[in-house]
Amino acid sequence: MSHRYPESHVLYRSLARDYPLIVRGQGCWLYDETGREYLDACGGAYVACLGHGVPEVVDAVADQVRRVAFVSGMSFTNQPAEALADELAALALGDLSQFYFLSSGSDAVEAALKLARQYWVERGKPDKDTLVALTPGYHGNTMLTLSTGAREHYKKYFRPWLIEVPRVPAPYAYRCPCRGGDPACPRCSGRALEETLARIGPDKVAAFIAEPVGGSSTGAAVPRDDYWRTIREICDRNEVLWIADEVLVGAGRTGTWSALEPYGAVPDLQVMGKGVSGGYAPLAVVAAPRRLTDVLAHGSGALLHAQTFSHSPAMCAAGLAAVRHLRTHGLVARAAAMGRVLHERLEPLRRLPHVGDVRGRGLLAGIEFVADQESRAPFPRSERFTERFLAAAERQGLMVWPNTGHADGVNGDLVVLAPPYVITKAEIDEIVVRFERALGDMRPRDR
Ligand code: PLP
Repeated sequence: MSHRYPESHVLYRSLARDYPLIVRGQGCWLYDETGREYLDACGGAYVACLGHGVPEVVDAVADQVRRVAFVSGMSFTNQPAEALADELAALALGDLSQFYFLSSGSDAVEAALKLARQYWVERGKPDKDTLVALTPGYHGNTMLTLSTGAREHYKKYFRPWLIEVPRVPAPYAYRCPCRGGDPACPRCSGRALEETLARIGPDKVAAFIAEPVGGSSTGAAVPRDDYWRTIREICDRNEVLWIADEVLVGAGRTGTWSALEPYGAVPDLQVMGKGVSGGYAPLAVVAAPRRLTDVLAHGSGALLHAQTFSHSPAMCAAGLAAVRHLRTHGLVARAAAMGRVLHERLEPLRRLPHVGDVRGRGLLAGIEFVADQESRAPFPRSERFTERFLAAAERQGLMVWPNTGHADGVNGDLVVLAPPYVITKAEIDEIVVRFERALGDMRPRDR
């Protein structure tokens, strides 16, 4: 049976390919209707961090849905929302103590950006209306979050609806002219933000948004140890709010609950999504400190971001069960430990043709492909290297996450691995074996 547009009534993500129909998941594995198995080495889309098919999480969501699936956050609060906020408060960085629940990462990033803007207006600084972001970078697919992202090909049809967002080069040592070797490099040290703020005038800037560790856009590039303390200091000095987008890298993905933990720096706002519910229901979270939310409380009285499903019990029950499961099973520490194994086993891939770099932290690993390992020259986009690798990986039953365009906005090929935290050493070895086989099975016609 083919699941393909327009033979099905589903308007698929791609209108030009067949989709296998998945009927079951267990741990790191997915099974389609024909019984074929897939090693889910990217948690679907960095989501399935607990693994597929965890009975206690399923039961917790089912119990809540049986009791009450939905109440409006306008009129009521509910047990899972209250308990989830308590769990998150216990895990949170610094003074982040208030949690707003939404159903997608884009929606939550958008809410954080709006909160930043509302804060400045309510503090009597309405001129602070500019957002600053990194390039490469990605923050979501609503118009405001698309504006903050640097994926130009995603914006192609929508430019008239997008706002101008000044950009700072992302801390991405592999693609920096200094190759990560210059301690004074403005890009790698974070000082480049200062230059951008000076150019715009800090009085105009509401917030700077960035991923603490690179997600898809820079393929798990890890900034220097002092990078985020430098950003904190620059934002403080210029009265600019710093928003950490941990939609992809939060909830333990890099081996600590927040990817910022090892940096010893606390953002003004933080967003988590994806793994925060492990995929058992859509959920994303904005975390804010009282020093910001009190300004709204004493002013307009509310964050202006009304959403039907905000704070909904079914969604929060999934988050609560997932966070408790991560905590009681020590899965974040496991992500750190298995992350070390993953990176050790991936190291030899550097010797394969076209592997330019292998990097990351915890159970997040980026593998960047290049036409020339010495000069780091990317393949021309017309080669569609990533797409061909993805097709080859799927033939091996290996699911990885792709990204293109990071080298110069058009060219650049990489894939990211982000397996569930329950992955075993044997399954890590299986990823590496299938990865190598896929590289050896690239076909021109997959283009
Ligand atoms: N921010 C980052 C860093 C992301 O990686 C994503 C999604 O991939 C988003 C925001 C948007 O999240 P969602 O796709 O759930 O809307």
